Amino acid sequence: MTLSNLTSRIPGFHRMTTAERLEAVAAFSGLDEASVAQLGAPGNIDAHLADHMIENVVATLSIPVGVATNMRVDGRDVLVPMATEESSVVAAVCNSARQCYDAGGFTTSVSGNLMIAQVQLTGVTDPEAARLRILERCDEIAAICDGCDPMLVRLGGGFRDLEVRVLPTRGGPMVVTHLIVDTRDAMGANAVNTMAETLAPSIEGWTGGRVLLRILSNLADRRLARARATWPLDAIGGAAVRDGMVSAYHFAEADPYRAATHNKGIMNGISAVVLATGNDTRAVEAGAHAYAARHGRYTSLTSWEVTADGSLAGSIELPLPVGLVGGATKIHPTARACLKILGVSTAAELARIIAAVGLAQNFGAMKALATTGIQKGHMALHANNVAIAAGAVGEEVPRLAALLVERRQVRQDVAAAELERMRAG
Ligand code: NAD
Repeated sequence: MTLSNLTSRIPGFHRMTTAERLEAVAAFSGLDEASVAQLGAPGNIDAHLADHMIENVVATLSIPVGVATNMRVDGRDVLVPMATEESSVVAAVCNSARQCYDAGGFTTSVSGNLMIAQVQLTGVTDPEAARLRILERCDEIAAICDGCDPMLVRLGGGFRDLEVRVLPTRGGPMVVTHLIVDTRDAMGANAVNTMAETLAPSIEGWTGGRVLLRILSNLADRRLARARATWPLDAIGGAAVRDGMVSAYHFAEADPYRAATHNKGIMNGISAVVLATGNDTRAVEAGAHAYAARHGRYTSLTSWEVTADGSLAGSIELPLPVGLVGGATKIHPTARACLKILGVSTAAELARIIAAVGLAQNFGAMKALATTGIQKGHMALHANNVAIAAGAVGEEVPRLAALLVERRQVRQDVAAAELERMRAG
C-alpha cells in the first residue's frame, strides 16, 4: 500500500479484539516488530480490563509509581503513592516533608463533598421571573435529584442546595441552575450529570424555556481541600533562603506568567496522587486552575508567610473532587492497591493528603528555585533518563548518569559518546 492509499477509516475497528486492532494499526503505520511487541506487552492491567475502560484499545502504558515518605498529615504518618513520568517530583515531596516533619507536618481541612451540576436554560423572555419559578420548586427538585441515586442517598449524600443565576451573555440572558449535591466518597460527575439531565424537562415545563447543557462544573469550589505547614528556620537553611522563597511566592502571586509555572509544580505532586488512585487528573487540573483565577486574575494556589518566630508558614486551598469509588478508582487494580497504601477510608481524607502533597511540592520547587536553581537536583535525576535514552543498561545507567552530572553536560550526544568510550575501555 502506498502512503496515499492509507486511510484512517477502518470499518468495525471498535468491534475488533485488542490484538486485531494492534495488527491494523501496525499495518497502517508500518510498525516494526519490536514496536508491535512493545505495544502488545502486558502491563499491570490485563487487556480485557483495559478494553472495557476506554474505546479502541491497542495497548496499555505503564507509568512509574513512587512512594513519598516523611509525610505526616493531621498527626498520622502516611506513605503516598505518586504516579508520574517526571523525575524529581517524588524526591521533592520527600525532602520538603522531612523538613517540616519534626514541626508537626501538615494540618488539613475540607469544605465538604459538594459538587455542582449546571443546567443551562435559554429562550426565556422573563429570566428574572424564571429564576424565581425554579427556586420556588426547590423541594420538588430535591426529590427529582435524590430519586436518581437512591444508593447515594442511603449513604448520606444527595441533593443539598439550589442556586439560580441570570447570566448575561453575548447571546442574550441565560438562566443557569446549579444543583449542589453531596456525592460522599465518589467524585460524582456521573451522579450529578444524571440528576441535571433528569431535571431538565421539568425546568423547561416550569419556565417555557429551552434547556441546552446539563453537566457538572469542574470549578468544584464547594469541595475545597486545604493544607498548611510550618517549616522552622533552621530546617530551611536560614533567613536568606526563607526570604528568597517568600519573594518567589510574591512573584507568583503578582504575575500570571510565573503563577502558571508555580501552580504547574504544585500539580506535579497533586496529579501524581490523583493518577495513582485512579482519579480524574483533568477534572482536578481544570478545577485548580479555574480556582486560581477566581478573582479575575490568575494567581498562586499557595500562600507563604513568615511567622512571629521567623519560621516559614505555607498554605494551600483548591478544589479536590476525588473519590474512592466510581470512575477507575475501583476497577483499576493498581489504583485500588495505592488506596490501600494510603489507608484512607473517605474521599475527604484522600483530598486532604493530596492538598498536603501539593504544598510540599511547592515548598520543594520554591526552595530549589530560590537557592541552587531547579536544574541541579532535576538534572541529577534526569541524567538517568538521558543515559537510558542513549542506550545504557544495568550498571551503565548510574555510572553514565554520574559522569554527565559531574561534567555538567546532561545531553544526549555527550551521553552517546561517553557510553561508547565506557564500553570501549
Ligand atoms: P460513578 O457513577 O462510577 O460512581 C458513583 C456512584 O457510586 C454514586 O452515584 C453512587 O450511586 C455509588 N456509590 C457507591 N458507594 C458510594 C460512596 N461511598 N459514596 C458515593 N457514591 C457511592 O462515578 P462518579 O464519581 O459519579 O463519576 C466519576 C467519573 O466521571 C470519572 O471517571 C470521571 O472521569 C467521569 N466524568 C468526569 C466529567 C468531568 O469532570 N467533567 C464528566 C463526565 C464524567
